[in-house]
Amino acid sequence: MKKILTIAAAAAVSLSAMAQDKPIDYTVDRFADIEVLRYDVPDFNSLSLNQKRLVYYLTEAAIWGRDILWAQNYKHNLEIRDLIENLYTNYAGDRNSEQFKAFEKYLKQVEFANGIHHHYSNDKFIPGFTQEWFEEQLALLPGSPKACGCVLKAMFDPTVDAKKVNQAEGEDLIMTSAVDFYDGLTQKEVEDYYNALKDPNDATPISYGLNSRLVKKDGKVTEQIYKLGGLYSDAIAHIVENLTKAMAYAENDAQRMTIARLIDFYTTGDLKTFDDYSIRWADDTASQVDFINGFIESYNDPLGMTGSWESIVNFKNNAASHRTETLSQNAQWFESNSPVDPRFRKDEVKGVSAKVITAAILAGDSYPATPIGINLPNANWIRAAHGSKSVTLENITQAYDEASHGNGFNEEFVIDAPTRELLDKYLFITDNLHTDLHECLGHGSGRILPGVDPDALKAHGSTLEEARADLFALYYLADPKLLELGLLDNPDAYKAEYYKYILNGLMTQLMRIEPGKDIEEAHMRNRQLIAAWAFEHGKKDKVIQLVKKGGKTYVKINDYAKLRDLFGQLLGEIQRIKSEGDYEAGAALVQKYAVKVDPKLHKEVLNRYAKLDIAPYKGFVNPVYEAVYDDNGIITDVKVSYGEDFLPQVLRYSKNYAGLKK
Ligand code: ZN
Repeated sequence: MKKILTIAAAAAVSLSAMAQDKPIDYTVDRFADIEVLRYDVPDFNSLSLNQKRLVYYLTEAAIWGRDILWAQNYKHNLEIRDLIENLYTNYAGDRNSEQFKAFEKYLKQVEFANGIHHHYSNDKFIPGFTQEWFEEQLALLPGSPKACGCVLKAMFDPTVDAKKVNQAEGEDLIMTSAVDFYDGLTQKEVEDYYNALKDPNDATPISYGLNSRLVKKDGKVTEQIYKLGGLYSDAIAHIVENLTKAMAYAENDAQRMTIARLIDFYTTGDLKTFDDYSIRWADDTASQVDFINGFIESYNDPLGMTGSWESIVNFKNNAASHRTETLSQNAQWFESNSPVDPRFRKDEVKGVSAKVITAAILAGDSYPATPIGINLPNANWIRAAHGSKSVTLENITQAYDEASHGNGFNEEFVIDAPTRELLDKYLFITDNLHTDLHECLGHGSGRILPGVDPDALKAHGSTLEEARADLFALYYLADPKLLELGLLDNPDAYKAEYYKYILNGLMTQLMRIEPGKDIEEAHMRNRQLIAAWAFEHGKKDKVIQLVKKGGKTYVKINDYAKLRDLFGQLLGEIQRIKSEGDYEAGAALVQKYAVKVDPKLHKEVLNRYAKLDIAPYKGFVNPVYEAVYDDNGIITDVKVSYGEDFLPQVLRYSKNYAGLKK
């Protein structure tokens, strides 16, 4: 489970020490609704040589998986990428012409989204250049490559595969989603297939469907497994090769065994092996260098089963980890005092390990758009029996923060000067604490009653799970315990996060939605669910108001203490829904509060936002790691640099890391 940035523009805060010794220009590129930033990797040079070697091979293993994600996202993505990169690189005409400019924008959008559908809205991009122009230009290229009819339809016919992931209630979510996890099946056939495999009495179920494409051919349903010799074998071979090299520089035997089990998993495709790997990975808290690599999160599957390929390589930020360690040491206190029915609490919280990390590379589904917090493994029974590992990516939140400095967001949307001051002072720390609490305690809290199917909430599972974790974090941000633990120094600090959360959930996140559309993405649904539910249930006490000033709408919070109570009540209800697998109640909450948008307020937000020229979405280029070898091919040093721009980077990845033969 991952936490993504809750707001496009965090409040400005004081510059960090990092920026003082080496000011870097954070903005790399700006196009469509996207801003590409760079991030710094502070303290990379303080790693030992063996750690640098380990990081290096893990980053190679990370980048080699890129094509898997492209193929998963849509069946024609790699073919389209080849054509448009070829045209971009070899185009001999006027690069300032209107058609070419529109083409360049499309190329950047596709590169950013790892395919022809928007990474967040899931809508297909509409090219601003004509099909005629495109075909003419292809014909002029060396070798005159041709786009086949289905590729042209995919690019230019807006009705074909219009949505990567469709979450619209009442439609066949499999048939109407373009993502390539299923072929030739209806939603019912997929559900029947997996229901037949599931044993309700299995206390340690594998994550069904996590690493396979389900296809129906000649009436027969089969799983094509992602593994060596199976689907995506060529790319997986490169990943395994680099994991094997990394293994030689593991920091300790436990980490070496963890990497070995991951290699076993890629070799066999066996999901029991994946669980074994996940347990070892969660248990390894001693190593400083760490990584995620594999088919992990299932947000791109309308049924939440198949994992999208991703990788993040990182190392622990020892100084900042004090914060998360303090939280996890007190995990049992938080669990035992949570405002949920004791039947749904964990009697004993198992090994919540939490740390603040420095990301060294982002890859697959975590690149260029990336989460700021991650909590894994996802399997409920592993979390219950072995605990989970939770991380906050602080060099990423820091880059977001630096880049948003002085962008005018707070002046436009925050109600008054005292509230703005509160945000300036406390939003960075409370936002980071919110991420820590969400990942480290929120996802790990509570328990599912025996016999309840962990997938019982079906298409609403992700939204309700994110809501549960967010509510846990919001509730405890206001708890005096955080002052007692020395994590906050002002009893009012939490109000900064509360204000921002409600503002975002009721209003400002709407800038990511096109006029007339519903909210679909799970994290956005969760945030509106919480904000709109609290707004409605606090109405008679005027806890939250939407007030008008000079024709503009502002969020006004009158009673922060009551708002905390409301968060606690909703947490209790959503935990009950999860614990009992109450699909009906969960679906009702989502449909009532999370999906629909007030068109008038939406329009106002879009208009006000347009004047600020802030990109609704952000992502990152990676640093470049260069290994220095001796005559025997042994790495003697790894150099890191930050100069690469967005298009050169993705074009280099496509050229040097073409993992899948087309
Ligand atoms: Zn989460």
